[in-house]
Amino acid sequence: MDSGNVERLIRELLIEIGEDPEREGLLKTPERVTSALRYLTSGYGMNINAITEKAIFTQEINNMIIACDIELYSLCEHHMLPFFGRCHIGYISNGKVFGISKLARIVDAFARRLQLQERLTEQIAHAVMDGVDALGVGVIIEARHLCMMMRGVEKQNSLMVTSSVLGGFRHHAETRAEFLALINRPRMG
Ligand SMILES: [Zn+2]
Repeated sequence: MDSGNVERLIRELLIEIGEDPEREGLLKTPERVTSALRYLTSGYGMNINAITEKAIFTQEINNMIIACDIELYSLCEHHMLPFFGRCHIGYISNGKVFGISKLARIVDAFARRLQLQERLTEQIAHAVMDGVDALGVGVIIEARHLCMMMRGVEKQNSLMVTSSVLGGFRHHAETRAEFLALINRPRMG
């Protein structure tokens, strides 16, 4: 990303929407927007294999591991406006597991791009599946989209829920049920 180019585009954009880029409050806005965009799209530069390759080995086998309520912030690719919410990940270990922070990093790597919630859900599921050779993976994302909340349709409270199930989560109804029961249980604290 060429910072000078992006700053120039943001300055032009300010003029197009009827603003004066020379007024005091906006002087540093092109610079700030550019650095925000750099961060919010930093997922493009993240190597998923590098994140997942250091999975932890364990003796235990075939137990379901769940990480609930992973915070998620992304940008919808249709409007470049934020959508945000929570991601729940479950997988059945085949002898390898991720440290908790690894799952959050996988979520961030795919979320910090222009996204569709459906595709984001699929990408996270496949990265977890491949990263630890899991026997099955289930991912659920619950998110609110500012493009829906802030614009004319005024569906302020609509929550979009997407899921992706692979392997044992796809083939066994009991496994899916166990996953849903675990993520829907009352939380501690
Ligand atoms: Zn949108």
